[in-house]
Formats: sequence, structure tokens, C-alpha cells
Amino acid sequence: MDSCRAVEKEVDRVLSKFVGIDGHTTQSLDDLIQYVSGISQELSVDVNRPEVSTTQQLILQQCCQKIKDTVSRLASEHKDLHSSVSKVGKAIDRNFVTEFNGIAQDYVFEGVEKQEMLNKVIVEHFLRQGMLDIAEELINETNIEIDPVAKEPFLELHRILEALKHNDLDPALTWSRVHRQQLQAQNSSLEFKLHRLHFIRLISQGPEKQQEALLYSQNFAPFSSQHERDIQILMGSLLYMKRGIQSSPYAYLLDTINWIEIADVFTRDACSLLGMSVESPLSVCIRAGCSALPPLLNIKQVMQQRQCTGVWSAKDELPVEIDLGKECRYHSIFACPILRQQSTGSNPPVRLVCGHCISKDALNKLANGSKVKCPYCPVEQSPADAKEIIF
Ligand SMILES: [Zn+2]
Repeated sequence: MDSCRAVEKEVDRVLSKFVGIDGHTTQSLDDLIQYVSGISQELSVDVNRPEVSTTQQLILQQCCQKIKDTVSRLASEHKDLHSSVSKVGKAIDRNFVTEFNGIAQDYVFEGVEKQEMLNKVIVEHFLRQGMLDIAEELINETNIEIDPVAKEPFLELHRILEALKHNDLDPALTWSRVHRQQLQAQNSSLEFKLHRLHFIRLISQGPEKQQEALLYSQNFAPFSSQHERDIQILMGSLLYMKRGIQSSPYAYLLDTINWIEIADVFTRDACSLLGMSVESPLSVCIRAGCSALPPLLNIKQVMQQRQCTGVWSAKDELPVEIDLGKECRYHSIFACPILRQQSTGSNPPVRLVCGHCISKDALNKLANGSKVKCPYCPVEQSPADAKEIIF
């Protein structure tokens, strides 16, 4: 952020200088044009005399000198502006490090297969964002094959979300009715919330919609056990239709936040039903990378200064812990209480017979032949009885 501000300051400086020079240049040129046309008028008065008088010669000489001076002054001001512009470039270079060597593995994107995977992730991102034309273009240019069946859920989701953005509930209602059983299996209240919004829209339209709202309330029947309280509130609001819901205790039902919320609920539930992550994997990666890069660059610099670049050789793990916040935690992690290391694929956590958990490496270190003593409760057991735990 500080880097952005520093660059912005330089840009502002250039802009204000530019405006200043622009005004000044226009003024000088206007003055000059006026001066020259003045002289030209003076000279044209005496047309009968073909020769220029000494005084006129002097005036013309002065005029030429003035033009030369102005032009060279403008040129030097222009040059000065160039140096300010180049300062912005330098500020960008200074504030944004583009040298990422040593903090990334160069080979991760090498190879046809990996390139293809990367392109697929990018295409998926565009499909999710509804940028279908860009996705299609990328598919054509990279010659990757995306099954049209795989594309369909994204297109459908996008269509429904677009409709929701325009306060059109029908496509979402149709979709949730089709997937009712699966939605209920994952304890989703999406369909109820859609019906609820439709009902709220009816009651907000005044007493003439009372009958329609009452009829529509039949749609709540399948959800009566799960949303009893909500349905009571909605039915209660019917009493205030004549007076206007806006000035009733139910006014909060009309809050526009409900519409924003329903789009989120739909995205979350539909994505989980279709086995997709709510957020695009590409944007999650980029966000995580943006948070992780500054501390990694810092530590790289420290390592170079202290000449201990060899310290970070295990490229599978980061030299410092980077907390990306709760939303980026996808699975539990296990840190071995004995070795104080996070478990990995090659060093998974194991459960001992007594129920205590340590890492496999710790178990191997503690094992004495076919016997191992639990470091917590000294139950003696065979290392072979320990079971690997998979989170
Ligand atoms: Zn134990």
C-alpha cells in the first residue's frame, strides 16, 4: 500500500507540473503570436516602401530573438517534464520488486501438461465471472478442450445470478425446485429464502396484492418444520398491508440487503451442490500470493544480506509462517508435539494405541526395535500398531 502511495505521489507531481506547463506554454505562445502579428501589421502599413528601414530591421531582429528565446525556453521546460515522467518509472522500479527469483520454483509451470492445467484454471475463472467471450477466445487460442457439459453449470449459474441481480427470482426458483432434494440433503434454506423474497415483494406492493400473497404463502408448506418462526413473521406482516409495511414493525423485511444476501446464498449452495468451490481457485491463489510475496521478499533480502541463502533449501515449505486468515483455511493441520513440525505427506500424523497422536518421524525416533513407549502416557506398544491419520 505504501508503495502504491509513493508512486501515486510522483504521478500527482507530474500531473500538476504538466498542467502548469500546459498553461504557461499556451500563454507564451499566445503572447508571441500577438507580438508577431503586431509587427506584421506595422510593416504592412507602409506597403509602398519596398525596403525595410533600419528601425524596422532592428524590430525584426528583436522579434526573431524573442521567438528563439521562447522556443528554447519551452523546449527546456518540456525536457524538464521528461525527467519528472522518468521519475515515476524509477519510483515504480524502487517500490515494486519484480525480481522474484529465489522465492518461487521456476519449473512449476513448465511442461505441456502444466501449461494446459494453468490455462484450464484461467478459463474456469473467466467462465465463473461470466466473461464467456474471453473464455471462448482463450479456449480457441490455447487449443484446450473443455467439455461443453462441464461449461454448462457455470453458464447456468451465471444466468441465474444475473437474473437475481435484476431482482428476477424465477430462474433461481426453478433451479432450486429441480434440485430440492439435494439442497435439503445439505441443509440448504435457499428455496425457502427465494419464496420468502417473492412473498416480501408481494406484500410491499400494497393491499391489492394481499390475496395473491396469501395464496403464495402455500409455497411455504414444505418448509414449515424448518422455518416455522420465519413463516410466522411473514404471515404476521399480512396484518399491516393496509397500513403499509414500510411504517410497520415488519419494515425490516423490505431491506434491500435481502437481495444481496440471496445472491450469496445461491452462489454458496449451488457451488457446493455442484462440487465447486465458492470462490474461483485462481483468485484465491492470486490473493494468497499477494499476501505472501511481501514477507517472502523481505526474508529473501535478509538472507542475502546475511549471506545465509542456503538456509531456505526445503522448497516445499515456506521459511516463515504466512497467515492468510480464516477464509483461506481449507483443512486441519497437525503439528507434531514431539518434533514441533507440521505434518506433511511423507511425515503424516499417526495415532498410537493409547489414543495419543504424534508424527511418523517422531514415532520412528522413539521406537526401540519392536517397542515404543508413548511419550505422554507411558503405555508400551508396538510401532506397527500405530495408525496413520488422514485429515
Ligand atoms: Zn499415550
